[in-house]
Formats: sequence, C-alpha cells, structure tokens
Amino acid sequence: MRVLIKSGTIVDPSEHLELKGDLLIEDGIIREIAPEISVPGAQILDARGCIVAPGFIDLHVHLREPGREDVETIETGTHAAAAGGFTAICAMPNTQPVNDNRAVTRFILERAREVGTVRVYPIGAITQGLNGEALAEIGEMREAGIVAISDDGQPVMNAQLMRRAMEYARQLDIPVVDHCEDKHLSAGGVMNEGLWSLRLGLKGIPAAAEEVHIARDIILAELTGAHVHLAHVSTAFSIELVRQAKRRGVRVSCEVTPHHFTLTEEAVRDYDTNAKMNPPLRTERDVRAIHEALADGTIDAIATDHAPHHPDEKALEFERAPFGIVGLETAVSLAMDRLVHQGIIGWMRLVELFSTNPARIANLPGGTLRPGTVADITILDPTHPFIVRAEQFRSKGRNTPFEGWRLTGAVRATLVAGRMVYHAHFP
Ligand SMILES: [Zn+2]
Repeated sequence: MRVLIKSGTIVDPSEHLELKGDLLIEDGIIREIAPEISVPGAQILDARGCIVAPGFIDLHVHLREPGREDVETIETGTHAAAAGGFTAICAMPNTQPVNDNRAVTRFILERAREVGTVRVYPIGAITQGLNGEALAEIGEMREAGIVAISDDGQPVMNAQLMRRAMEYARQLDIPVVDHCEDKHLSAGGVMNEGLWSLRLGLKGIPAAAEEVHIARDIILAELTGAHVHLAHVSTAFSIELVRQAKRRGVRVSCEVTPHHFTLTEEAVRDYDTNAKMNPPLRTERDVRAIHEALADGTIDAIATDHAPHHPDEKALEFERAPFGIVGLETAVSLAMDRLVHQGIIGWMRLVELFSTNPARIANLPGGTLRPGTVADITILDPTHPFIVRAEQFRSKGRNTPFEGWRLTGAVRATLVAGRMVYHAHFP
C-alpha cells in the first residue's frame, strides 16, 4: 500500500520544514519527503497548489454520544471532523452519562473504533457528574485511555478541589483543560456585558468572569506544577495573564476558537441564537488582542468547541436557547481566510496552531511529518472558494453563525494512517 502525494508545499513546523515536493506513504507510515520521488505503482495524489501538513487535531469537541445521539453521534461527529480537515479530535466529557468513569471512556473508544472516521481521544471529567463536588475516577479513566481532564461547560468553582485535581493530573502527566468562568459573576448572563448588552436589553457576562478564574488557575498551576490548558480564551486581559504566566515559566497553554477570532458581540444584534456561545463573543478590542496573540505565540492552539444543538433548542428565544455552535467544518477555512489571507499569520504558524501544538499539549501521536511516523495528513487548497452551507454539513448540527459566508481556502483531503477519509470533489 503506497500513496504518493505529489508536488505540494509540505509544511511541518516540528521539523522546521517548508518544501515544494513529494511525500511517500507506505503501509500507513510516512516513508520519505523529497523534492521529487517516483515510485512505480503507487497511488498518486496530486497536491499541486496545495499545502500538505501533519493532520490537524481539535482539542475541543462535544460529540454528544452517549446520550444525545439525536444531536450528534461519534459517527457523524468524526465524519464532520474528517471533512473539516481533522485527523483526530478530543471528546469532552459532558455526555449523558458523563465520562467520569472507565466504563464510559471505554464505550467512547470502542464506538470510535467501530464507526469513527478519525481518531477520538476522550477527555475525562474532573468531578463526578461535573457536579464540582467530588473528584471523578481520574486514575481509572487514565488507564482506560483519557488524555486530559476537564469539566468543560462547568467551571470548577472550588479552588481546593481544583488544586487536588491539578496535583492528580500532574502525577498522571495529563493536562487539566480548564473552562474558566466565575459562575457568580456570570450568573444569568447570555452575552458579553457591554454596550451591546445594554442596547439589546440582555443580561451580560463580564470579561472579569473569565479573567478572575484564569488568574486563579494560573496561580494554582504555579503552586502545583500541573499543566493547565485554558480552553477558549476570549478577552484581551485573559491573554495578557497568559502572556505574563508564560514569561514566569508557568506550565500554561491556551486555545482560541474560530468564532472568537472572527466575530464580535455585535453579531448578537438581531438576537440570533447562533451568536450565543460561552464564553460570549467579545469586543473589537478583544478580537485584535487575539489576533496579536495568535501571531506572537501566546495562543498555542485553535480549537473549535464544536457544540451541536437541536434546531428546536436553538429556535428558543435568546435568553432560553443553549450556548454553543458547530465548528468542525468551518474552522480551517475561517482560519485560512481570516488569518492567513489577512496577513495575520503564515502557513507555518497555522499548522502549528492546528497540529503540532495540539499534539504536544495533549501528548498525542501526530503533529509531525517526520519519516517513520504515522501518516495522518491534512491537505489544504489555499485558493479554492468555500461557501458555508449548513445543510451540507456531515455533522447533525446546523447551528452556525457563518451560514452563507464565502471564504477563500478549502480542505482538499484528509488522511488517517495513510487512508483517505475525506476528499473534496473539486477540479
Ligand atoms: Zn467550555
């Protein structure tokens, strides 16, 4: 089984490599990269004009199975991931039941093996039932295969419990993926607190709700020596806190979502529930700070926070609709269009944000094209137009604020262990 990817621009930050040339895959393993390879009988994949990168990894996905298979399943979610250019995804534990014990972890891994298109790495809960009261069976889940712990969706408000979780995670050598939100400060809020929330008469969530919690957990990371990965940072001061912590050598990393680098709170103006997410869309100033931090390395990763909801739930009035949007099938095109083509970051940095850094953060295989490693590969066509059409999503979710957007840059193909799991049908 030989696959030869011909004439692409090969971009691999892990090897500091940017090269026009060919990449040979043999039995699911990357064999060789060179300006020109010819292998008689190999399956040829023409990558002229395309970027050939190590497989993209999404650290933040809500798959909804077990429990809400009407909204998303491991099968549909991994199909969506493949179409979005991802070869691996991390699955958040807020399913029904919660992934807070090894039985659920095993179920997810087994389902992913049976029906999954891309690799699925479960994240275990920090606390039982995400209740914030007692630690989950973290050690058992680690043995069963979790790669991180998180109560995502629910902040761990008890600092003592969080300290113990961090100590545990440090011993097990896994990161704590941290949803930072002071629940008392955010209580009842449905969008960013500011001019727009006043104008629209909606209760706001202040930036401080996120920043207070980030400050606390940076302090706890410093105290425990644990690796804390901050999920979906959204404010300028959150980023400043991360920048300072990194300078002090604290083991902190962070991710940002495509909606937070693309949209502002103004998107809520027509009470569009597809602009309702947590953390909420922020201000112009915050978006600028995110762009700077994407460019200067303060932000480590782009993650989608893919959160499918039933159309009936999102059709509720703004205050009552659930938080969250889908993201797997729009993230990479948004990043190409809004970041690379706008000159905010280059291709090397894009691949770092989507592949090399996520692999390092969660200690996952991949994130590299080094010969001898597994052939998880994402191929992008930087100039091909991509029009967002929710009805064409592989995901069951349709809740996107980007419907109808015309973007430049599309996913051309996705390969997992050398096997094509997605191939775009354009000339
Ligand atoms: Zn979250």
